[in-house]
Amino acid sequence: MRIDAPKQVRTALQRLSGSGFEAFAVGGCVRDCLLGKTPGDWDITTAALPSEVETVFSDCRLVETGLRHGTVTVLLDGMSLEITTYRIDGDYKDARHPQSVTFSRNLREDLARRDFTVNTLCWNEQSGVVDLFDGLKDLNDGVLRAVGEPERRFREDALRILRGVRFAATLGFSVEPKTAEAILNTRALLEHIAAERIREEFTKLLCGKHAGAAIDRFSAVLKVFLPELSALIGCAQNTPYHCYDVFHHTLAALDAAPQQEALRLCMFFHDFGKPACRRVDENGIAHFKGHAAVSASLTEQILRRLRFSNKTVRHVTRLVEIHDTKAPPGRLQAKKLLASLGEEDYRALIAIKRADCRGKAQPHAIDGKLANMERFLTEILENGDCVSLHSLAVNGDDLLAAGVPAGAGLRKTLDWLLDAVIEERCPNEKGALLSFWTENASS
Ligand code: ATP
Ligand code: MG
Repeated sequence: MRIDAPKQVRTALQRLSGSGFEAFAVGGCVRDCLLGKTPGDWDITTAALPSEVETVFSDCRLVETGLRHGTVTVLLDGMSLEITTYRIDGDYKDARHPQSVTFSRNLREDLARRDFTVNTLCWNEQSGVVDLFDGLKDLNDGVLRAVGEPERRFREDALRILRGVRFAATLGFSVEPKTAEAILNTRALLEHIAAERIREEFTKLLCGKHAGAAIDRFSAVLKVFLPELSALIGCAQNTPYHCYDVFHHTLAALDAAPQQEALRLCMFFHDFGKPACRRVDENGIAHFKGHAAVSASLTEQILRRLRFSNKTVRHVTRLVEIHDTKAPPGRLQAKKLLASLGEEDYRALIAIKRADCRGKAQPHAIDGKLANMERFLTEILENGDCVSLHSLAVNGDDLLAAGVPAGAGLRKTLDWLLDAVIEERCPNEKGALLSFWTENASS
């Protein structure tokens, strides 16, 4: 088993062991390497006390923010490494924080405080992979199992409940029955966890390759911080287009979307407004008129509550709002859409519509239309067609010079000329645009 650790990690481990302190890369980084994935971050665990770590790395930039819990962050060749002293957590209060931490010189004691067996694996060059809690077997079997007595571990730190669902979603592992039962039994404790920490795990969960199955299995956990989810479950669609209730449609659409934060958030929330908009006609067919706007407003409210950044809230809310926009049937309509959305959201809309359709009765019905939507974009870009004021051949100054009155009307005139160019009623040339304005200004 080869662990391909970056050179900074190797250097840090060598420096610690060279100074007489046992040290290992630990947790997610070892787990991910063994699964053939690239780890997001590398954590180091060591017998050295924080003051000893600081001495070993006295020539490096150090950040001491985690010192109380034994973590020194070391900046080594542009990489930031969290080096944490072996520790035993004291009793927990509020299902959140250990009341005290005790440093230890014993690796096993440190590994015993970790959440899941697959997260207890550690590695260094001399010892190879060290596996004191049967993490390798669980990793090979695809099993997520709490270290020690599951319910006690979730009661100590309720974030582990959501981490469990997150790992089920990202790794696609089955959750060991006692661990799963404990996750469900203790779920209400998630109420004690800060919104920011929920947000981080929730985002990783949604971006998981197996998010749909994990959410289906543990929807009760998500409902603790997303009570709005209840209304989707069992919300029947009875239309020829749909074969699932709103909840299961959402999960299928979620899994079909690219694993990017904004797109996954959009797919998760895109139909949250459906239950409130549901009307059944005389033929028993359900309609959800106006649901995109209601979904967008719920999305904004929920993302704010979960303390997402303003940028993410604005972007995801906008994507939800436009998710049901029809694919443009021709190039002119594609240009109009591109002008109103911009290239990034135009591309996002293609991905969203594709994913949305994957959760319907005829998952590929839209493929032809989306292929055209993509082709129109390529042609428009290659052709250098004007789809924004930025590339319009006249600007505000030109219009003022030609006698257009200053003020709000100026912007309106520019937009009106842009429309004329997009609709190919007037060429994008200064002279032509000014005459077009003169000819039409009187009418
Ligand atoms: P990723 O980095 O992919 O999000 P990870 O498992 O590495 O996942 P980190 O938050 O980086 O998660 O934590 C590193 C390690 O610290 C974990 O693998 C685990 O051993 C331990 N750990 C993290 N959070 C907890 C927790 N709440 N309870 C117990 N152990 C934890
Ligand atoms: Mg990690």
